Amino acid sequence: MSAPAMPTLTNAEHHSLSAHEVVLLLETDLSSGLSEAEADERRERFGSNSLPMVEGEGVVLRILRQFHHPLIYVLLAAGVITALLREPVDSSVIFGVVLINAAVGFIQESKAEAALESLRSLVRTSARVVRGAQERAVASEDLVPGDLVVLEAGDKVPADLRLVRQHDLKVNESALTGESAPVRKDEVALPVDTPVADRRNMVYSGTFATAGSGAGIVVATGAATELGEIHRLVGAADVATTPLTEKLAKFSKTLTVAILALAAATFGVGLLRRQDAVDTFTAAIALAVGAIPEGLPAAVTIALAIGVARMAKRGAVIRRLPAVETLGGTTVICSDKTGTLTENQMTVQTIWTPENTFTVTGTGYAPDGFISDRHGAQVPIGGDAALRWCLLAGACCNDAALSNDGGGWDVVGDPTEGAMRVAAVKAGLDPDRFAAECPRVDAIPFSSERQYMATLHRSGQNDHLILAKGSVERMLDLCTSQMATDGTLRPLQRSVVMHAAETLTARGLRVLATGLRSGVGPDALHADTIPEGLVFTGLQAMLDPPRPAASSAVAACHSAGIAVKMITGDHANTAASVAADIGVLGDDDNMPGVVLTGADLVGFGAEQYSAAAERAKVFARVSPEQKLRLVEALQSRGHVVAMTGDGVNDAPALRQASIGVAMGRSGTEVAKDAADMVLTDDDFATIEAAIEEGRGVFDNLTKFITWTLPTNLGEGLVILVAIATGATLPILPTQILWINMTTAIALGLMLAFEPKEPGIMARLPRDPDQPLLTGALVVRIVLVSALLVISAGWIFNWELGNGASLAEARTSAVNLFVVVEAFYLFSCRSLTHSVWRIGLLSNRWVLVGVTGQAAAQLALTYLPAMNTVFGTAPISTDAWSRIFAVAVGVSIVVAIDKRLRRNRSMGRRRRRTSHWSSSPDSLIRRW
Ligand code: ADP
Ligand code: MG
Repeated sequence: MSAPAMPTLTNAEHHSLSAHEVVLLLETDLSSGLSEAEADERRERFGSNSLPMVEGEGVVLRILRQFHHPLIYVLLAAGVITALLREPVDSSVIFGVVLINAAVGFIQESKAEAALESLRSLVRTSARVVRGAQERAVASEDLVPGDLVVLEAGDKVPADLRLVRQHDLKVNESALTGESAPVRKDEVALPVDTPVADRRNMVYSGTFATAGSGAGIVVATGAATELGEIHRLVGAADVATTPLTEKLAKFSKTLTVAILALAAATFGVGLLRRQDAVDTFTAAIALAVGAIPEGLPAAVTIALAIGVARMAKRGAVIRRLPAVETLGGTTVICSDKTGTLTENQMTVQTIWTPENTFTVTGTGYAPDGFISDRHGAQVPIGGDAALRWCLLAGACCNDAALSNDGGGWDVVGDPTEGAMRVAAVKAGLDPDRFAAECPRVDAIPFSSERQYMATLHRSGQNDHLILAKGSVERMLDLCTSQMATDGTLRPLQRSVVMHAAETLTARGLRVLATGLRSGVGPDALHADTIPEGLVFTGLQAMLDPPRPAASSAVAACHSAGIAVKMITGDHANTAASVAADIGVLGDDDNMPGVVLTGADLVGFGAEQYSAAAERAKVFARVSPEQKLRLVEALQSRGHVVAMTGDGVNDAPALRQASIGVAMGRSGTEVAKDAADMVLTDDDFATIEAAIEEGRGVFDNLTKFITWTLPTNLGEGLVILVAIATGATLPILPTQILWINMTTAIALGLMLAFEPKEPGIMARLPRDPDQPLLTGALVVRIVLVSALLVISAGWIFNWELGNGASLAEARTSAVNLFVVVEAFYLFSCRSLTHSVWRIGLLSNRWVLVGVTGQAAAQLALTYLPAMNTVFGTAPISTDAWSRIFAVAVGVSIVVAIDKRLRRNRSMGRRRRRTSHWSSSPDSLIRRW
């Protein structure tokens, strides 16, 4: 192909050309697409089909934002004032704190962003393309102009396409036009001046196919698409906030005001006591600086980033940051059955026809097995017309294919359909030969709302045949007769079929009914005409084993106070049986109202709906709209709801849910787009794992807060008390600044790396409305800060009274302060367990931090230069033993408080849990 003949891809006039002209223009082929070599060549020329990275905030802006925090403003002001007061040491230590914090914040934020960015690539979209006459999946980025792309309901349109064929294709173009009602598409050429929104023969990148199917030729990729244009115009990145970060922002504002007031009061008192104005002022600044928990913003970013990484490792990809935090507070999980709680590995086991019952042998998708009768004898396929047509309808009204890549047989497409194909092959039928003899000319695809699929096949010169399969209820509505073993038609015995289906579903099998109608016209399935007057041929019942990890994950959720509800399009019996298998239904759950169907829900008012949502554990044959109402009903009762979904119509429910969960493998692009979290393995157990990690993240933040608030308050109080009582400062302002700068980074931040605690899934979900400062935390703050101040004051005076110099006594007080903070750090590593229970050495980051802090303290105490700058002096080993003795004493008091608190919360936990004959036509005889 000659390069210059290729048109420029910005002339967006493809809609005015016929499909044939577009094919000629783009030098491609309507049936075989481009060749692989040609696609490679075009990729070289046109580049990859991706949008150029939007430039987020510039580096400078991101650095500056590290300083945009009320707490930091106060620190900066303090630094400037002390510099003006010619206190270079104080001033440089304050600026040091600010700079180190900004650096830690910046590095961590960049790391978190890089991590999120790399996660995005995990949920990369793929497209189905025909190349070299073979249909296959490729990464959307690999598409080139001229590619023939196949679309189906639920697909994200991967590039701008000129449609060449379609069947009832509807596209949601809200990403481009803002209009959320789906737009009908066709392939007819339009006038050149048709506006973009009215170009019905074009589908655009970034929009979604919501119904039907189609195929189109790629006319523009990457930045040349309409979406690329918009992207260039807007291009914005959102700054991530979570409920907790918002709560913290408010809290730090209040805290800043309180601290400033306290500092001002201290300054006032000092002046009244006629102390030196400059000294008092630096002391007031040290108080303010010491009391400010400046490590807080960095700790939040780090804890969230670590959470995202840990969840990704376990198969849960977070798409929206607030989900990390919300996950930890989940109270209800509404999970799909098929593919999430079960393996979605279907095997047809039983076939029921109006006159016989058959067993299908063999497991998995390998076509090894046969059809046997009640006595285990192989059934010759020629003998039974109903059986044959049941199998043919199942296998040919079917979009799945079987593949064997050497490593075993697998399904490409829907496993339900794959299983029916395998059953037909086991019976010795050849679906491909049928398809060649009776080519498919039209189809109504399966959808959860429709609950059936139908295909139209040309079976003769002017003769057509409809094959259909679907849920028993729906198929019985479409059928008027049933087929006998000899292929004759009899009146439909509805109740007999229903009874047979009940028996099969009660065994936990997924049951599909099959039907056909011969002698119809070529328009029998056109547009939205429902196929009627079908002949019922039989039922196929398939087994879908529960996932191995499902039972234990469900049990873990239950012990964690999280309700698990199964939501499915499947039959109530099948659902209930699987639910009982995996523990969603317990032994005492055989009361009415525990298993509900979509039909039950239809008559319910708001009040009833909400009560039913709370009570029921299995929801069968529910529609996507009902899923949405269910989420809303549960939320109105104060629940934090995680809801799974995979279809196009699940998107509203996924968006409404507190945590929308999409399936990475089987999910549609629409569902992934609406979700907060995507499961790479589609496994229910992964949701449970993510919740566990979410709880861990929240715990670590709480731990950091529990550590930082008392220690910061203690740092401020030391000065306040000294000035208020007119005593000699036991710790100098410069020394407070030192403690503040080193401990927040070397000690406190390490709590963000804390592994999950044992028993993290043995407690109830946290109350989403719980305030940041709980009563227990206030008690802890008061206790620890008081202990810090008293013990520092005491050791200072003891040393002074026993012959130490002022510098030595202060050095002891400073070291005591730091040792107590380090001991307290170990206590904060678990909110309920003792440090011995969680393992003293289980967080190596804490060990690194403590070692670093120890080195810093030794330098402060023994390096002459440090002695000069900070007013410290070397102290004796005896002094060190007194320091450790006092620190141990303080730790015992804190340990007692922790034990008392644990007993109180255990008590609370216990209280909360107490809760028709015509002859068969020639085709029927032939097959
Ligand atoms: P689930 O929640 O189990 O995924 P679906 O909505 O996929 O439920 O299926 C609902 C019902 O529709 C099934 O019980 C089955 O009878 C029928 N069904 C499922 N898949 C197909 C299909 N590919 N073609 C026709 N009918 C189907
Ligand atoms: Mg399904």
